[in-house]
Amino acid sequence: MEASPLFATANEIEQIIRNEFGLTPTEFPKSEILVVQAILDINAYEVRMCDSNVQAVYTLASLAEHNCNPNTHKTICSNSLELTFRAATDIPQGAHISTTYCDILWPTWHRQKYLQWSKFFICKCERCLSPTELGSHLAAIVCMDCSKSRETVPAVPLLSENESWETIAKNYHCTTCNTIFPAYECQLTFKKAEHELSELDKDVSTESIPAFEHWLNKWTLTEQILSSGACERKDDDRDEINKTAHMEIPHRQTAKCYARILLHPKHSLILDACHTMFLLYPKEDCTINQLKRKECFGTHLLKATKPLFTGISKFRGTILYELAMTKAAILVHQLEDQGMMDSLRHLAEEVLQLLHESQELLKYEPIDQPEGHLAQTGASQLEQLTLFFSELFS
Ligand SMILES: [Zn+2]
Ligand SMILES: [Zn+2]
Repeated sequence: MEASPLFATANEIEQIIRNEFGLTPTEFPKSEILVVQAILDINAYEVRMCDSNVQAVYTLASLAEHNCNPNTHKTICSNSLELTFRAATDIPQGAHISTTYCDILWPTWHRQKYLQWSKFFICKCERCLSPTELGSHLAAIVCMDCSKSRETVPAVPLLSENESWETIAKNYHCTTCNTIFPAYECQLTFKKAEHELSELDKDVSTESIPAFEHWLNKWTLTEQILSSGACERKDDDRDEINKTAHMEIPHRQTAKCYARILLHPKHSLILDACHTMFLLYPKEDCTINQLKRKECFGTHLLKATKPLFTGISKFRGTILYELAMTKAAILVHQLEDQGMMDSLRHLAEEVLQLLHESQELLKYEPIDQPEGHLAQTGASQLEQLTLFFSELFS
């Protein structure tokens, strides 16, 4: 227990209790501090405040159970600290009310690791028992043996019937050609890709777009998800990974496998990079190619995350807004081309539809939260653009 993060935090809290409040070990024993700290830590929600985040425990709301595909949507107002649960989707009578204790966009092994580490349980929800994570393929790799025709065939974690994730690392299995990809080799690939991405994340600006594009091109089949390629694939990079892999794994079980491991275009790391690039690509003072690239990332994010967000979602709400604005900018760029009027009319309808959907998903966000503010901006954009398009196409 001494090694747990809870214990380390409890040590810090004990120092404050002793030094600031002057309570002695007889008045407030260390064992009691640990119990209180554990209760707080396991049951608290994180609340985003203006300049920092705080942990808050709610007598009723903290009773909601965890599910990796929760049936509620939660908002917390940072001024009043009032927490509201709404049904994110239809909830059958008698069903448990659930929320999520971790990031929905983490793949199963990552959520399991976090939940075991911080909440001390193994989740056995429907999503955790699904090798494809309900069809999202968030932890999948590409089977290159099957994808020579440039069709993406995902290889997914190999779980036996009703098996969950007591051990984090699982072998991967291609259901088309039956190739087995050993867990160790998959994990090594994920770690390497994640490390490189975290290095890029240290210094994010429009200047780093080429480096992110390069990373994406190195770790997945970009041409399958993004129709407008901004940089060319360099197969040398992939050969380099494979050479390194040979050096790092002295006892390779299946020599051909590791050289074939690439992340699936819907893998969580790929989505992470796509999200960063979607936000990095500008929508003002830029070229039409940059706008189209931005549009590709937004469209891919919406498509890839659809199985994981079945109801109200601020993540999808913000992507929808940004994508609507990107398409509006594309439309303005193409206005001078009279021959395109029909397709522009269609694009305008798409912009309004996206903004409308964004409003539906963001309308519950408190105004003191960034998403609530975005909902307000979206409402006025929707009004202005409706007017602008009706004049333009009248
Ligand atoms: Zn789960
Ligand atoms: Zn295969």
